[in-house]
Amino acid sequence: MTESHSRVAIVTGAGRGIGAAVARKLASDGFAVALLDLNEESVKQGAEDIVSAGGRAIGVALDVSNAEQVEAAVARVAEELGAPTVLVNNAGITRDNLIFKMTEQDWDSVLGVHLKGSFLMTRAAQKYMTEQRWGRIVNLSSTSALGNRGQVNYSAAKAGMQGFTKTLAIELGKFGITANAIAPGFIETDMTAATAERLGVPFEDFKAFAAKEIPVQRTGTPDDIAHTVSFLVSEGAGFVSGQVIYVAGGPKD
Ligand code: NAP
Repeated sequence: MTESHSRVAIVTGAGRGIGAAVARKLASDGFAVALLDLNEESVKQGAEDIVSAGGRAIGVALDVSNAEQVEAAVARVAEELGAPTVLVNNAGITRDNLIFKMTEQDWDSVLGVHLKGSFLMTRAAQKYMTEQRWGRIVNLSSTSALGNRGQVNYSAAKAGMQGFTKTLAIELGKFGITANAIAPGFIETDMTAATAERLGVPFEDFKAFAAKEIPVQRTGTPDDIAHTVSFLVSEGAGFVSGQVIYVAGGPKD
C-alpha cells in the first residue's frame, strides 16, 4: 500500500470522462474515493468497480450547485469513508453560444456548476482538511480560461477557477492545505464529442484537426489529467500551491 492509503478523496463529476479516470487513478494510488455526480447509477458502478479491485469507494448522487445536497454528501463521505482531505472539483457542463445568442440561463447554469459548485464543495470539505492539518484541493480550469469563441460563460467560469484556486492557496496554506488548478486542453470525452456534434463535424475529424495544432501532435485523454491530479495530491507535492498547470500538449499561457 502507498503512503496515502488512509486518506479519503472526493472527486466530483466522477460518473464519466475525466472525473471517472481521476477516481480510478486515486483508488490505485491507495486513496479511499468518494465518486460524486448527478448520475447516481454511473457513480455507484464506478465505486463498485473500485471495490471489486480491492479498494474502498462509495458513489453519491448530488448536484454540486445545491448547497444542501453538497453539505449532506460531504457529511456522508466523512461518516462512511472518513474525513475527506482531498477534493477534486471536476464536475462541469458547457452551454456554448455566441454572446448575442446566449441566454441568462446558459450563463447561470455554467457559472453555477463550475464556480458555485466548487465554492460549495470546498467550503464543506475544508473543515475536515483544517481539522486534519492536511489537505489537497485540485480545481479543473481549462485552456478556455484564456478565451474561446462561443464560450463566454465557460471561459469566465474557468478563469474564475484560477482566481478561486490562488485565494484558497493563500487562505488555507497555514493548515497544510495546497490548492492548485489543472487547465486541460483538448481531452477526448463526451464534452468534446458534444462540441464536435454541435459544429457538425465527425469526432474523429475534429480530433485530427485539433491534434495538428498541438505541439505533441495528439489530443489528450482523461488519463493525462488523472496523472497530473495524482501528482498534485501526493505527499511530495506539499510545496506546490496556487499554481495553474496547463495540461495541453504544449505551452498555453
Ligand atoms: P463530461 O464527460 O461532460 O463529464 C462531466 C461530469 O460532470 C458528468 O459525469 C456530469 O454528470 C457531471 N456533472 C455535470 N453537472 C453536475 C452537477 N451539477 N453536479 C454533479 N455532477 C455534475 O466532462 P469532462 O470532459 O470529463 O470534463 C471534466 C472537467 O474538465 C470539467 O470541469 C470540464 O470543464 C473540464 N475540462 C474538460 C476539457 C475537455 O476537453 N474534455 C478541457 C478542459 C477542461 P452527468 O453524467 O449526469 O451529466
